[in-house]
Parts: sequence; structure tokens; C-alpha cells
Amino acid sequence: MYDHYPFQLLPLPYAYNALEPYIDAETVEIHHDRHLKAYVDHLNEALQPYPQLHNMTLEQLLINSDRLPKCIQTAVINNGGGVYNHNFYFNIMGPVNHEPGAQMLRAIEKAFGSYSNFKEQLKEAAVNRFGSGYAWLAANRCGDLKILSTANQDTLLKTGLKPILLIDVWEHAYYLKYKNLRPDYAENWFNVLDWFQVESFFQKA
Ligand code: MN
Repeated sequence: MYDHYPFQLLPLPYAYNALEPYIDAETVEIHHDRHLKAYVDHLNEALQPYPQLHNMTLEQLLINSDRLPKCIQTAVINNGGGVYNHNFYFNIMGPVNHEPGAQMLRAIEKAFGSYSNFKEQLKEAAVNRFGSGYAWLAANRCGDLKILSTANQDTLLKTGLKPILLIDVWEHAYYLKYKNLRPDYAENWFNVLDWFQVESFFQKA
């Protein structure tokens, strides 16, 4: 899915205005075309002088980040994580808000009691993440679901957990429309979460 150096800016899978009125077109355009593009460009710049790293996938680079040359470790973690997390984020949203399927719903009810409890707990994780980062739904090796949050552009790749979905709570994801009201963004975000896409990650986990 993520190929190798030079990494590309993957096209947005829908129009800039496809997520309105919940996420405005200007936010989507700036988020994808400028923020994500900057992560892609800076990742490539960091890797450019190291041909021995040019065949590694993004996941391999992130999982083995502590074995990379010291002077590019931070750049790869931040920008590579930015590329990985944003590709995921843009892929699980869409203009059609498909409902969770039966198997997905059973797993959610087993872990959280009900869909509405799940939603409240994910929102809480999103709102309580101090500073910038993500809130996640992830599965362990037994397929049990859990909610957690991470800082900055950290991924779940070294945790052994399989990511199912994530919400970006960096201010650039919502500030133009929602200003400081992250809880309102988190609440409305569920309207653009496409469970049809989410379930493809659940099946893989
Ligand atoms: Mn972002």
C-alpha cells in the first residue's frame, strides 16, 4: 500500500467538499495538499542521501526506526508517521456514512457494551489527547478492540495492535471551522466515518 522511496502524495479518494458540512472543503484541501504533502516531501528529503533505505516500505522504516542512521530517526518518525497516519485517516472517511456491519458491531458491543458507549469513549480519547495526536480504535492479536490515543505523529506499528480507525486531533484537522471546539469536531466527525472502509482494516486485523 505504501510502496517505497520516493513516496508519493496519494490522491484524495473524494472531492475536497465531499465531507461537508462536517469538515469543510478548505480544511480538507489544506490538510491533504499542504500538510500531508509536506510530510511526504520531508520524508523523501530525509531518505534521499541513503540509497540503502530506498527499497524499504514505510512500515519497515517506522518499525525499524531505531536502527536508522541517528540523524534521520526523528525526521522519519515524524514525517513517515505523518504520511502513514494521514493516508489512513483520509481513507476511512467519505461522503457516505455506511453503518457498521454485523461482525464489526458485535466486536464493538463485546468491548464497549454498546455503539453509543464506544462513540463516547472514542470522543473522550480524542478530546483528552493533550496537544496534537490521534485517537484510535485498535485490535489486539485475539481481535479484542480497545481505544487509545497517541501523541504527535506516533503510530501503533510498534505496539502489536492493529489499527482499525483513527481520528486526527491536530488543530489543522478542524481549526478553520471549529476553532477551539475539538469536542464539536469529534462529535461531527462520526458523520464522515465510512464503516465500509473501516471494516476492510478490521478484516485484516
Ligand atoms: Mn493531520
